[in-house]
Amino acid sequence: MGVEQGVRRMFEWAKQNGPFFGNSLKFAAGGSAFSTSAGAPAFPPPEAVLRALACPTCGHGVSGPGASLHCMKCGAYFESRGRVLDFRRAGIVRKQEELDWSEHWSAEKQHSASQKFFSLYRKAIFARAVAYFVDHYLAAEGLLVEAGSGTSETSMLIDKQGGRRILAAIDLIQAVLESCHPVMDVCICGDIFRLPFQDGTVDGIWNVGVMEHFTHPQIDAIMREFHRVLKPGGRAVLLWPAVFSIPQRILRVIEFFINLRRPRDDKNRRFRFHPDEISQLRSAAQGRAVLNRNGFRTVKIDLGLRTGMAFETVIGQKDG
Ligand SMILES: [Zn+2]
Repeated sequence: MGVEQGVRRMFEWAKQNGPFFGNSLKFAAGGSAFSTSAGAPAFPPPEAVLRALACPTCGHGVSGPGASLHCMKCGAYFESRGRVLDFRRAGIVRKQEELDWSEHWSAEKQHSASQKFFSLYRKAIFARAVAYFVDHYLAAEGLLVEAGSGTSETSMLIDKQGGRRILAAIDLIQAVLESCHPVMDVCICGDIFRLPFQDGTVDGIWNVGVMEHFTHPQIDAIMREFHRVLKPGGRAVLLWPAVFSIPQRILRVIEFFINLRRPRDDKNRRFRFHPDEISQLRSAAQGRAVLNRNGFRTVKIDLGLRTGMAFETVIGQKDG
């Protein structure tokens, strides 16, 4: 299955089932969604980010303060609006999925009671876990990137070490980044398979509930991309839903009851909290294998007590 196909499957699922999966839970971050984009002043990204950024088309560095970021080699121009920088590849027709998402996350849908519940749940449980792992395993200073960020709601408790840590969010969907949590210093609209950073410029990477939506060949491609942009000694922290997760099982039971009164054969009307998570982590050994075959040394595989068994946390390091 190609990358496009995998992504498309996720989007189709989300259209039918509502905004409940993975990162999209982060969309429920309060009432500010989609209200901050219009007329927000551009501001120059932090210096550490400017130095690391790369043109997604040719890979060269970028220059230009504030609203006029451009590639110093091919001349591609990157818009910025508020904290959001648009580093999607120039000249590429927008994927239909992006358009669908923008429509999907209408202001109305941001306020449903179930989304507020999930938002609270994520803040209470997952934000603490993310803060723990980032604080303990990623560098105490430098550029840290949440790759596949959604609104970065689960990153809100990360200790920024008095500003020595610069936090950057990356997501494919621009509209989501516009309601990104203020803990993030900059939000970059870009592709996780082609991160807009130069080789060896990033101090740490993390994400929550991202990897399981891809096939293993895609996961390998993403891991190699992480390896490329990390500095020697840099680490990746992946909070990855496990097959035997207890919360997952509880959700499955709730789904069963919600679906009792729905037609069994009409897939479009069946309710699910998550899309098919095609690559949930099966074991610690699998986590290690994913790290090792993509150039990482295993630092730790955490079996998930901190996340109420929802996630295993896979931590790898790019050595010298
Ligand atoms: Zn370029």
